Amino acid sequence: MRLLVGAHLGHTVRYTPIVPLLLLGVMILSMSGSAAVAYTASDSSIEPASGQPVDYVYHNYTNVRDILYTVQAQHPSIANVYDIGDSWEKTNGTADRDILAIKISDNVASEEDEPETLIMALHHAREWPTTEIALALIENLTDGYGSNKTVSWLVDNRETWIIPVVNPDGLDFALSSDDNWRKNRHYFPASDSYGVDLNRNYNGSENGDPLGAWGGAGTSDDPSSDVYCGEYAFSEPETQAVRDLIKARDFQIGIDFHTYGEWVMWPWGYTTDLAEDNDDLVRIGYEFAALNGYLPAQSVVMYATTGDSIDWMYGGADIYSYCIEVGTDKDNFHPSLESDVVRIIGENVPVALLAIDLAGDRSERAFDISHIPTSSRDYSSSGFEITADISADRGIDTSALVVMYGVDGGGWQSVSMLQTGVNDTYAGTTPAQSAGSSVDYYIVARDLGGVELMAPQRAPYDVYTFTVNAVDGPPVADAGLPVSTAIGGTVVFDGSGSVDDGAIASYVWKFDYDGSEVTLTGVSPSFRFEIAGFYVITLNVTDSSGNWDTDTVSVTVEPPAIPEFGQVLVPVATVLMVFLLAGLRGRSKKR
Ligand SMILES: [Zn+2]
Repeated sequence: MRLLVGAHLGHTVRYTPIVPLLLLGVMILSMSGSAAVAYTASDSSIEPASGQPVDYVYHNYTNVRDILYTVQAQHPSIANVYDIGDSWEKTNGTADRDILAIKISDNVASEEDEPETLIMALHHAREWPTTEIALALIENLTDGYGSNKTVSWLVDNRETWIIPVVNPDGLDFALSSDDNWRKNRHYFPASDSYGVDLNRNYNGSENGDPLGAWGGAGTSDDPSSDVYCGEYAFSEPETQAVRDLIKARDFQIGIDFHTYGEWVMWPWGYTTDLAEDNDDLVRIGYEFAALNGYLPAQSVVMYATTGDSIDWMYGGADIYSYCIEVGTDKDNFHPSLESDVVRIIGENVPVALLAIDLAGDRSERAFDISHIPTSSRDYSSSGFEITADISADRGIDTSALVVMYGVDGGGWQSVSMLQTGVNDTYAGTTPAQSAGSSVDYYIVARDLGGVELMAPQRAPYDVYTFTVNAVDGPPVADAGLPVSTAIGGTVVFDGSGSVDDGAIASYVWKFDYDGSEVTLTGVSPSFRFEIAGFYVITLNVTDSSGNWDTDTVSVTVEPPAIPEFGQVLVPVATVLMVFLLAGLRGRSKKR
């Protein structure tokens, strides 16, 4: 939907999927749960329109609200908009802006046991490109569903929540009145000043370290300050809305987009001490940075903060949380040109998609399915065994191991996989199918940490397929009808009545003759019999699979003829008569 990326964009923004999972040649699939290969760093399709530079038209709150409800109307099965709270001005009765979140997942109205991700944008009023990233992400996830394998798989197997505008009053104020505005629009009559820095209003690190508490480093208690942290933690309706959503969910990974500086940052922001999960936070941070080209670092490296979203998400809600500062110094808080905004979107939509993917196994504990598919299987009345080597650091949930299979494009059914006698090898047997059937299948495994893994990884958008070969049954030999002949007669044998479900590869005829064995080949060989007798000839036909059958045919060769008396008498009498007649004619001439 073009409306999502602005009236001046002549194209939609797409990230580039997808490295094919099938290795050339031997199709051995081995996955470790790492999805880093699934997203590429840049999208060559994201290019600014040619010609004169065009100013980008940023979306205000009303635009965003309309887009979200349009997406929900167009994709009701996978997109649901939630009003998760009011802006400060709405609570004060001076405006009508809500904090809106959109959930994107299959069966969106249901609570499914799927890994959850939170993507947030625009805590700070002037950081408009962040909302554009969120809208482009929403567009990718919804319009790409059904056409893009990776997107479709992510929607089916993840629950993603996106808040495109955490600070709607601030956004509209910055767009209309003061493009350098940062905070929300909370009015403080005592000081006649406006605004709390929403990204200083969370409840600190909540890890018991007083240095990490709300209102510490990087904040001010002066309402006129740009980093005013509010009267108390979560004093603002905007941060309360985010907090309440997070508390009601089970987010594994969270990204909070800001501008600018091209950083990927993780907790802590209040201290140089490393977070307990620092190894994981660093690893994922580097994966994000590899996609958008930004500088990965612990948050405190940029400057110390307390009460920001990522310290609280991590310390307060066990979310692997990232603050991503998009855009260069030249872009500043909001570049004016479309080409710059499009570039920033293209850098960061893949990061968000990767985050959604990694939410399925953010610790990336080793978990492998190794399976060697074949493109055809011989018909078997006992079905088709599917085997795979499956291993997981946390152990395999053997009750959840299944082969999903479908025949000739029919619906999916499942069979359990059980451990074989061999370590790590599991097998399931799909039912017998008739010759010529096409069987699609994939393997689903779950480890004891609840992480699900499939082979192929994006099943059922990718599947293994085999066709069922017809079985090559044995031939039926037919050596033809019995034959009689005289000595010296030539007999032509006839094996053409032999049949096979495939092709007969050889005809071999054998019989004993004059004290030795004669071997003839071919469908209709011939043989001249010089010796009288009764012969039994054995025909052996063999098909291309080596299946064979035999048949016999008899040949009777007559001995020499011995004339009987009656047969001899007539010719003798004839000869005598000839002589007699000749004698009579001779006499009459002399007269
Ligand atoms: Zn910011």
